[in-house]
Amino acid sequence: MLTLLRKIIEGVMGAPSLGEAMRCLVTKTKESLRADCCSVYLAEPEERRFRLAASDGLSPDAVGRTVLPFGDGLVGFVGSRQELVNLADATVHPCFKYLPETGEDCYRSFLGVPIADQGRLLGVLVIQRRQSRRFDESDESFMVTLAAQLASKVAHAQMLNRIREEHTFSGPIRGIPASRGRCVARACVWYPQLDLDHVAISPTEDVPTQVELFRQAVFQVQLDLDTLMLRISQSGVKKESSEIFEIFEIYSMMINDSSFTGKIESVIRERGLMAVSAVKIVCTELMESLTTGGSSYIRERSVDIRDIAQRLLSKLSHNQAKAFDPDSPMILVAEEVSASLLVEIPSKILKGVISVKGSVNSHAAIMARSLSIPAVMGVEIPVDALDGRTLVLDGTRGEIIVDPNQAVQEEYREVISRSRHMQELAEKEFCQPAVSSDGQRILVGLNAGLNVGMKDEEKCHLDGVGLYRSEIPFLLQNSFPTEQEQQGFYSEFLTAFRNIPVCMRTLDVGGDKQLPYFRYQESNPALGWRGIRMTLDNQSILLSQYKSMLRAAEDLNNLNIMIPMVTAVDEVRRARELLETAFQEVSEEARAAGRELVMPKFGAMIEVPSMLFIMEDVAPLVDFFSIGTNDLTQYILAVDRSNSRVSQLYSPYHPAVLRALREIARKSRELDRKVEVCGELCGEVFGMMLLAAFGYRVFSMNLSSIARIRYVARRIDIGRVTEMTDRNDLKDIPALMQEFTGYMDELGLQRFVAD
Ligand code: PEP
Ligand code: MG
Repeated sequence: MLTLLRKIIEGVMGAPSLGEAMRCLVTKTKESLRADCCSVYLAEPEERRFRLAASDGLSPDAVGRTVLPFGDGLVGFVGSRQELVNLADATVHPCFKYLPETGEDCYRSFLGVPIADQGRLLGVLVIQRRQSRRFDESDESFMVTLAAQLASKVAHAQMLNRIREEHTFSGPIRGIPASRGRCVARACVWYPQLDLDHVAISPTEDVPTQVELFRQAVFQVQLDLDTLMLRISQSGVKKESSEIFEIFEIYSMMINDSSFTGKIESVIRERGLMAVSAVKIVCTELMESLTTGGSSYIRERSVDIRDIAQRLLSKLSHNQAKAFDPDSPMILVAEEVSASLLVEIPSKILKGVISVKGSVNSHAAIMARSLSIPAVMGVEIPVDALDGRTLVLDGTRGEIIVDPNQAVQEEYREVISRSRHMQELAEKEFCQPAVSSDGQRILVGLNAGLNVGMKDEEKCHLDGVGLYRSEIPFLLQNSFPTEQEQQGFYSEFLTAFRNIPVCMRTLDVGGDKQLPYFRYQESNPALGWRGIRMTLDNQSILLSQYKSMLRAAEDLNNLNIMIPMVTAVDEVRRARELLETAFQEVSEEARAAGRELVMPKFGAMIEVPSMLFIMEDVAPLVDFFSIGTNDLTQYILAVDRSNSRVSQLYSPYHPAVLRALREIARKSRELDRKVEVCGELCGEVFGMMLLAAFGYRVFSMNLSSIARIRYVARRIDIGRVTEMTDRNDLKDIPALMQEFTGYMDELGLQRFVAD
């Protein structure tokens, strides 16, 4: 049963259109449940009625024509109750209504299940049998599962249709403000690594580019295959006896066969389709023709075609990033924007980012902030409807305007120029230390993963690099970097910031940061094999990081090291021991060369709530603590930081998070351990004020926040901010925010909060 269900779901989700998805669903469901009829009725809310949208069992003429007002008949009954209805004999039910044109008089039993998405009724899924007998419980759960799958397909298709039909968006589209700033530019849609079954059939307005992209993909697949075959033959495998070699030879013949590639090209040209869609059409047809007949050998060839198709799709999706016009500014739009994609696109053309998935603290959002690019995440939108259209993107408010008229564009350009002015104002003071009006020194450092384009004269005025995310350079490789390669990029970074301390964090992968060459599936990745958990299980990775960092810092002595995602004392102990081992080894090398190595300061991140309760046990093992407020918020509130559905629940201003932060500051003082904050909260004006009130004085943030935070920090009276915070005692956060807002008005700094 489970296999049948999975097959139907795969068919539904992979269908190129809603019509096909429903047709596939009714036929396969009828078959699987041995029913005599299966139908889908879709709601038309404005007309307050259901329309028979697909059926296997009712008269084909009725499909698309028959309508039932809401509340009418058994379908209406299921809809109004939004509950499953299972009847042995439908004809005796008081709500039964006979519709002669459907020819349903022969059916007795009835099982109807509502199709609903996020509380919105979209339709009703029905199965019927001639026999008068209730459907059993397994049929019920089968139908409920199918209805849930169909719901997401219907919701998505409806939105797509509405947008395509209307070709207009009424008013701004809202999402989650993820990176401040605004821009006006053309949307450019990115399609991720594609799965043949899930490729949509999408038209293109730029046939020549699609043909060119396809040719490049063919060339690259050919190259890959040639390299593979060369490697196989060099590895000593005998050509004639090697089955693997044969397989690749067949692949190579196929990709070199101009009738195959020519057919795909002509589908692109004649039907005006995206290259990925043409690959899907041609390869699916070929596979179908092979699976319906012939010997098992021939049928096997359909597997080869799927593999070739998948290789082409993978190249096609990768080539998109390189195909972005280097002279046209654009807003990147994608189902899921990843951090690595952002760095692949030249920063000079990347003006903004829109992602359907993700939230304010997913790593793509953090990356966008560190690149100072406005971003909106969690936007419920069919991305392909935006391709090529002009957008206003407001990352501060989390809004997108599609096809803005001239006046709106002008308005936004004016706002953009005003906030540029404000930023310039703040940047003029960039090199001055942040000392509050009551004389408190605040250290403001940088969070980075790449050697961001900062001017040298600015770098030396930074108070440090508080967080170097070592996973970022790892994300940009095709395989695990060697020690030498790592030493190369650590050394480049440490040298670029040679006059200030740099805190390098060991690899923090897992969760929403998966290395493309080291993927693993977990049902609950945020609580899974992340950060120090993974590297302690793969000690060679941790050791090689330590050694490369130590070697890179040899002549510079500006390195500190910290470990992410710490949950237990033992993790800190083991990570420290490994650092000592690495230190000994690299020290000996250095001594042999007549140099003395300095042991870097070693810190543990506080990101998991358990740390709050074991700080006293961890303190003797570390020189400092660093708080990752992004994860700390996620784990205290049990809210996935990347999940847009629960993003309204994710707030570092939640009293529980703030009280934890206050307590960590108190404990650090008691334990006499340095503590700094490197999560996103300290890059927000009110966040910084709260943290300062708790006693924190060392912050590290994205480049785009530094000037603003310094500017504000130099003007506030921390004594007064502390007094407001203490009086409130974190009991009424909105009231405290109100008070902070009043204080900003008084200082003339309101724009620095709002913008
Ligand atoms: C954090 O969790 O706050 C943090 C700084 O680490 P990351 O965002 O890289 O997980
Ligand atoms: Mg973290």
